[in-house]
Amino acid sequence: MRYLVSVALTLFGFILHGQIENEAPVIKQIYTTALVENQGYEWLEKLCSKGSRLAGSKQATQAVLDFQKIADSLGFQTQLQAVTVPHWVRGPKEIAHYEFGNKKYYMRCTALGGSVATPSEGLKAELIEIKSFAQLDSIKDELKGKIAFYNIPMDPAFINTFFAYSNAVKQRYAGALEASKKGAIAVIIRSLSATENIYPHTGSMTYVGAKKKIPAMAISTADATLLSQHLKEDPQLLFEMRMACEWKDSVQSFNLIADLPGKEIPDEIILIGGHIDSWDLGTGAHDDGAGSIHSLEAAWLLQKLDLLPSRTLRVVFFMNEEFGLTGAKEYAKQTQIKQWNHVIAMESDAGGFSPRGISIVAPDSIIDKIKMLRPLLEPYGIHQFSQTGSGADISKIKSDDLVMVGFRPDNHRYFEIHHSALDNISAVNPRELELGSATLASLIYLLDKYNIIAK
Ligand SMILES: [Zn+2]
Repeated sequence: MRYLVSVALTLFGFILHGQIENEAPVIKQIYTTALVENQGYEWLEKLCSKGSRLAGSKQATQAVLDFQKIADSLGFQTQLQAVTVPHWVRGPKEIAHYEFGNKKYYMRCTALGGSVATPSEGLKAELIEIKSFAQLDSIKDELKGKIAFYNIPMDPAFINTFFAYSNAVKQRYAGALEASKKGAIAVIIRSLSATENIYPHTGSMTYVGAKKKIPAMAISTADATLLSQHLKEDPQLLFEMRMACEWKDSVQSFNLIADLPGKEIPDEIILIGGHIDSWDLGTGAHDDGAGSIHSLEAAWLLQKLDLLPSRTLRVVFFMNEEFGLTGAKEYAKQTQIKQWNHVIAMESDAGGFSPRGISIVAPDSIIDKIKMLRPLLEPYGIHQFSQTGSGADISKIKSDDLVMVGFRPDNHRYFEIHHSALDNISAVNPRELELGSATLASLIYLLDKYNIIAK
């Protein structure tokens, strides 16, 4: 069997090798069109000009409707898929401060998404600083009646900042849950930023399993560092915080599905998507406006250049990735009901920075074939072919015979802006965004043409 696989691979390599000279000008044309036309950046500007798209907000649903119109005008077959979305609102600007050495220090702060409010007059208590998850485990009664201050930086030693994020995100996601079990009355966390800055970063959190829901706030990394220094000199300093966020009734919103039916194999679907909802501090230009636009623009490029795949090309704008993936779950449910036959699923949800490569989830023989495409993509800086997952939204339709691809742009600036007020259109470079769309379009073209699918 192994011998047969290696013969097949050699044969594939041989065929592809012979074709590379023919394909290189096609790929060049895709990149050139993206860079010259700048269509994706124009769409992203339009998307961000309407403000943030917090799941459950009117703007999030309006963005879906606006882009349905655009897709309709381009000749896509569109449909809206109803999704139930939790609705949490931030309320008035949060306040946090403390006194140290006769001076009042105000924190740059934000409620975490989904947090309960403080009492209306706020709350005031001493802090216990937690510098590692091991320390948290060893805490017994010290947190009773106090505020837990998680100050666990993202580890700068990681080359891939997504790994640093994964290692540190527990303080945000489960910090309140764990601290409440030990009697804390609230938590503040050091923002998950890869570099030190003055911007607070929000993000999702959970109370699942908590007996008591306690308020959770993030402060900027610069403020967390300063607070930690002051605590060393005055461990009894009193921290005050006030937040008025609240949960409302769930609302109905939509995933947008936009198809360009395949002329030869219409019942096989190549899906490409991103999530259209964002956090509310910025306008979600990178997370994940860029990924949504990448998806639409990749399809538009192939359509414009008459390079559409033989299979149906489906663009999906998923609703509500940030508050629990309800859009992705609904899409997966409908996939079962409607027996949609996905053969390739691609996701862009790592920002609109310069493309570096892709991450692939597929059988080894498929991964080997995809890696053979490298000479065609290397001139555009695409050189990373890893196997580190694909994307959160498409993970819900994962199956053994689905080739899953996650777009991997340069990641060094992503967590500086992620979930903060810095995530707006001025943080997106038009050329970098366009290169991403062209990369995804090129991959769709090549995977389809050379039948690099697992079925
Ligand atoms: Zn995202």
